[in-house]
Amino acid sequence: TTRVRFAPSPTGYLHLGGLRTALYNSLLARQEGGKCILRIEDTDQTRFVPGATESLIRALEWAGVKFDEGPGIGGPHEPYQQSKRLDLYKQHAETLIEHNHAYRCFCSPERLSLVRLEAQKSGRMASYDGKCSHLSKQESQERAEKGEAHVIRMKVPDGKTIVHDKVHGKVEFMNKDVDDSVLMKSDGFPTYHLANVVDDHLMGITHVIRGQEWLPSAPKHVILYNMFGWKEPTFAHVPLLLNPDKSKLSKRSGDVNVEDYRDKGYFPEAVVNFVALLGWHPGSTEEIFDLDGLTKAFSLENIQQSNAVVLREKLDWINKMHLIRRAETKEGLLGMAAMVRPKIEADLGPLAKEYTDEYIGRVIDTLKERIKNVNDVPTLCGYYFKTPAYTSEESAAYLSKVGTDTLLKVLPKALSELKAKGDVVLEKEEAKQVLKAIADEHKLKLPVVMNALRYTVSGVKVGAGVPETLSTLGRECVVDRIKRVLN
Ligand code: GLU
Repeated sequence: TTRVRFAPSPTGYLHLGGLRTALYNSLLARQEGGKCILRIEDTDQTRFVPGATESLIRALEWAGVKFDEGPGIGGPHEPYQQSKRLDLYKQHAETLIEHNHAYRCFCSPERLSLVRLEAQKSGRMASYDGKCSHLSKQESQERAEKGEAHVIRMKVPDGKTIVHDKVHGKVEFMNKDVDDSVLMKSDGFPTYHLANVVDDHLMGITHVIRGQEWLPSAPKHVILYNMFGWKEPTFAHVPLLLNPDKSKLSKRSGDVNVEDYRDKGYFPEAVVNFVALLGWHPGSTEEIFDLDGLTKAFSLENIQQSNAVVLREKLDWINKMHLIRRAETKEGLLGMAAMVRPKIEADLGPLAKEYTDEYIGRVIDTLKERIKNVNDVPTLCGYYFKTPAYTSEESAAYLSKVGTDTLLKVLPKALSELKAKGDVVLEKEEAKQVLKAIADEHKLKLPVVMNALRYTVSGVKVGAGVPETLSTLGRECVVDRIKRVLN
């Protein structure tokens, strides 16, 4: 069965690229009834950031990406944190030394810097010059036993290495360009290369889906699989994410932290939908997907080679489409209301009891065509919760556009129409009838009547459609505001 993994290093928060990698892995696993594993690659002590693992897990949970095995979940290959598996890596490194696939390197940091410089000058791609690979087994053993500080390096053989990649096809590397990389550091911690390959093998990983920045490491991994005599997984290196100016999307370019998108009011399903389309296409013109839709549509074959540009406008559009979808169901509206309530309260203070989530949901429903994000609601919705003050410059300008004489025609008729309707709930259709009756009576155009009522109930020019606004505010509130303006 298919087994895939997301293997972040806990060096910060989850960024868009990480979310996309996690998502593609989980989509493949779900699609094939396989397992998706979360593995924390925390062997680089210098880059470890406290709390990073928790923050990664929180962001993945928010996005709805689920794992079948991992820290806190459990599974047959525990532990899923590399720092708790050090013995395994040590054993495997020793096996490689025994079979002459790896060697101890005693070179000092000073020498290594020189060798690196040398490599740069002479255009050699592999930075280490292989000096310690010529030490005799006996000498190497003795120096290690005496406690001399050393690392363990892989002994890259001559020849070439082919990485078979689902996205890039056959990628050929000349082994002379592949460095004798360090597998075990002098502090007893493995490097990424060793730990990654050992764990992918031991955890039965069948597909390695990860960012393209790891493609240059892939030949090292293939060589390691060969040295151990293990079957290599299927590789798929997914394209880089770029800013609109084509620079690499990095932590410095801002807007890469998944939790920032959450805080900005984007829906998890929209962010997931957005990142899914960064470097993958569904093979159709469809663009709006939920997780189930993505699971059905996803395939490694439709991952593109070219880098993907992250466009904020596209995310906004996708978010809007999901907002409209959410507005179609009662639960969707209630969910959005719960998201928006604290933001409204931050602006207006605690809301009165009558303003239930259901009411806020209706408010959002009336505004949905005008917004892209639930965070747009608070600035537009004030009049749904507070009597307008009518004193702002904007209100005054609107009033002069509407015209006092028009108001004096429209509002008395509105009052009598509303009274004639009796105590019933003012539905959108009834509100429309009221507007029409006023227009007929005074031979006014409907938009003129609408503007007069919009001014009266909201005091502002932009807002939801007038019939739905009247209906949401309710008869009593509308009557009250008309009287206020008339007096
Ligand atoms: N720990 C690596 C990272 O942080 C994992 C790369 C891989 O998936 O092999 O991205």
